[in-house]
Amino acid sequence: MPASLEQRRHLVTEIPGPRSLELMSRKNAAVARGIGTTMPVFAVEAGGGIVKDVDGNSFIDLGSGIAVTTVGNSAPRVVEAVREQVEAFTHTCFMVTPYEGYVAVAEALNRLTPGDHEKRSALFNSGAEAVENAIKIARAHTRRQAVVVFDHAYHGRTNLTMAMTAKSMPYKSGFGPFAPEIYRAPLSYPFRDEKDVDGQTAAERAIDVIEKQVGSANLAAVVIEPIQGEGGFIVPADGFLPALSQWCAAHDVVFIADEVQTGFARTGDLFACDHEGVVPDLIVTAKGIAGGLPLSAVTGRGDIMDASHVSGLGGTYGGNPLACAAALATIETIEAEGLVARAGDIGRLMLDRLNRLQADDDRVGDVRGRGAMVAVELVKPGTTEPDAELARQVAASAHRSGVIVLTCGTYGNVLRFLPPLAISDELLTEALDVLTTAFEEATA
Ligand SMILES: *Cc1c(COP(=O)(O)O)cnc(C)c1O
Repeated sequence: MPASLEQRRHLVTEIPGPRSLELMSRKNAAVARGIGTTMPVFAVEAGGGIVKDVDGNSFIDLGSGIAVTTVGNSAPRVVEAVREQVEAFTHTCFMVTPYEGYVAVAEALNRLTPGDHEKRSALFNSGAEAVENAIKIARAHTRRQAVVVFDHAYHGRTNLTMAMTAKSMPYKSGFGPFAPEIYRAPLSYPFRDEKDVDGQTAAERAIDVIEKQVGSANLAAVVIEPIQGEGGFIVPADGFLPALSQWCAAHDVVFIADEVQTGFARTGDLFACDHEGVVPDLIVTAKGIAGGLPLSAVTGRGDIMDASHVSGLGGTYGGNPLACAAALATIETIEAEGLVARAGDIGRLMLDRLNRLQADDDRVGDVRGRGAMVAVELVKPGTTEPDAELARQVAASAHRSGVIVLTCGTYGNVLRFLPPLAISDELLTEALDVLTTAFEEATA
């Protein structure tokens, strides 16, 4: 991270400041309206737990650019590796003249992802592109077409992944028609399920829908986020994921874990599937994989991954050499700095504070998450009725006070916390203080 970047929250103007306001008016004139922004401040430097803006304001970062800069922004090993690579060559296209970095990333993914079976990997650019490729691979392997996804799922914004994503506004509305052969099953959502619906029961409920409405003979793949991201940081009840993966194995259905948001130390395990020892057939990774450079991957069982004919997979930029250098440095950073354990510590600190907040404030309906992927779901007091307006108010107040927080959830009523694992306990505690005040001030 930039050596000059002080690890301190510090506001020197109103938020947004005059330079950000000026840039925002240029943005509005030059950038398509469909590209929204959470905060109207323009970044110039970031690292550790801080993002600094063009007006000299320093914000505490509880978003990591949506779970991407897990190892920190401009993490030293990443900067060094990318600098070396950019001076050597920037692109040859792996499909034209390959290079070692791509192979080394594939080897690392094959080694680190759940399961000790023989694996292969393929690299792409974005999470959505990798999800699409996982489905191409599963269809080629099974010679079946149907794909099952879940309520509240988020898998991306391309045509196939829009079909897989649950929420209409803002992701799908007006952008159809969507890809066919996508079916949606009910999730395990402990806060909103009936009390007696444990993980096993929720899995049986989903499997019943799948068997009745799709049929395993037609089903290529079941795709699930082990903890749902955009859908509201929904942690399924214990036993739900293992039961689904066992059912898939028994019916030769490819079980695909979308770990785009949960992967790479975020949840206090290297991958969220590790928590219950679930071994997916294919695992999709992106976001935290390369310290901020665009990279994604599909990793999985050798026989499934090799189902595609030669040249059936690929893309001009997939596994770009800069992104591969960054990924190797990211993995080295996670291992050298013990970031899996650090995510667990961050989670304990956040959950402790947020549980206390919930005890004092009946608008906090649920506190959940694992490791450094934690959220609060806000409701009308004493009910489970979502309160999106309160989430909006608390987030806006935190933003004005110099803390970057994101909202999410099907009902827009979830505040989610995804700090970089390079953040200090002091900054994290201060950010939680700011949030506590934001809750006190919010009147919704
Ligand atoms: C962000 C996300 C995606 C899409 O990734 P992009 O890189 O934005 O295409 C897919 N799945 C999950 C779980 C995500 O969080």
